[in-house]
Amino acid sequence: MFDYMIVGAGFAGSVMAERLATVYGKRVIIVEKRPHIGGNAYDHYNDDGLLVHKYGPHIFHTNSQDVFDYLSRFTEWRPYQHRVLASVDGQLMPIPINLTTINQYFGLNLTAFQVEEFLQKLAEKRETIRTSEDVIITKVGKELYEKFFRNYTRKQWGLDPSELDSTVIARIPVRSNRDDRYFSDKYQVMPLHGYTRMFERMLDHPNIKVLLNTDYHEVKNIIPYREMIFTGPVDEYFDYCYGKLPYRSLRFRHETHSTERFQAAPVVNFPNEYPYTRCTEFKYLTGQEHPKTSIVYEYPTAEGDPYYPVPRPENAELYRKYEQLAKDTPGVHFVGRLATYKYYNMDQVVAQALTLCTKIIGMRRRELLN
Ligand code: FAD
Ligand code: UDP
Repeated sequence: MFDYMIVGAGFAGSVMAERLATVYGKRVIIVEKRPHIGGNAYDHYNDDGLLVHKYGPHIFHTNSQDVFDYLSRFTEWRPYQHRVLASVDGQLMPIPINLTTINQYFGLNLTAFQVEEFLQKLAEKRETIRTSEDVIITKVGKELYEKFFRNYTRKQWGLDPSELDSTVIARIPVRSNRDDRYFSDKYQVMPLHGYTRMFERMLDHPNIKVLLNTDYHEVKNIIPYREMIFTGPVDEYFDYCYGKLPYRSLRFRHETHSTERFQAAPVVNFPNEYPYTRCTEFKYLTGQEHPKTSIVYEYPTAEGDPYYPVPRPENAELYRKYEQLAKDTPGVHFVGRLATYKYYNMDQVVAQALTLCTKIIGMRRRELLN
């Protein structure tokens, strides 16, 4: 008899398994339908020996000391500050939009002080900031919105920014200084030996069993367990009884090139050209030295594995119905990006799982992480 059946071996499932086994002494079985652990953060060495992220680029960043310290038990880190260039009008310019971007795009030589005034003139006033369109138009005006954000967003989500919550585009800041880093979090690091190695160490515990290549439907009535932790899509768990929650998917095109460097930055975004949104060159992220280099293009699609919840009011409303059902389902805990329908980064999922652990075990965060 297992104490917990955990569905999914991504961050949510693995953190739950590790803490419930280590701190609470529980016996857990993780059931994962893919042939590997790590969820969407899974990485592996490809046929040419290059470390790649199967499901697109994963860069770890957090402001949470707890999350950073907790994961540091399972990995050493490589400092890494992520930088992205956007291909606009035949030029590569830094995104997030910053002083350099503005000067390059408009052919100016403004100072940080002048650029604030300049942006204030471009920005449009809006009564409320409700949508992703509002966020950008009120910061940089229509022209930069059209060039850097509108088409990228339409491609990525199949929706106009005016149809998406403000939180989507608000992930990308606008800066009046020359800081061209994609993130500004306190900790910006990559697991030194990759994500999968980190997950292996998390799950290396005598009380944790992992069953790969198995959909939980196949075993839920065969393997005895007391409670379930579910990290898959919440609407799927309830057989879509209120209808399907929209999740955006991606198709990944991985390539290896016989050259040491492929592009000028770790990621190049293509807001206006091509059916893909961005191209990532992994060696920048991993720090690997190799005579060849591997890249991945991301093609957004409506069908396929669920990768992104789609933040907009009607979806939040539909999710609330599933959330209520989840609350009314005893013995099953829902956690993670798909199970709580939240556009969460890895660190937010870790924090959410740690919080759920404190509730289940009845411990304070401090004790849980001792
Ligand atoms: P997942 O990793 O999706 O794990 C859920 C697992 O459950 C999956 O392995 C799935 O196979 C399994 N499962 C589902 N249904 C079943 C079933 N019926 N039976 C058995 N198993 C099942 N975050 C960052 O912080 N930085 C980044 O740079 C970043 N980049 C990203 C890039 C892309 C392209 C994507 C899609 C996401 C990115 N993220 C990034 C977000 C990050 O991937 C997630 O926050 C995190 O991986 C979510 O973990 P999770 O455990 O909630 O879900
Ligand atoms: N975005 C954009 N242009 C860009 C980069 C991002 O319009 O060059 C918008 C787009 O809507 C995207 C969102 O900002 O989905 C969040 O971008 P982020 O890079 O955080 O997306 P993720 O890495 O989660 O796919």
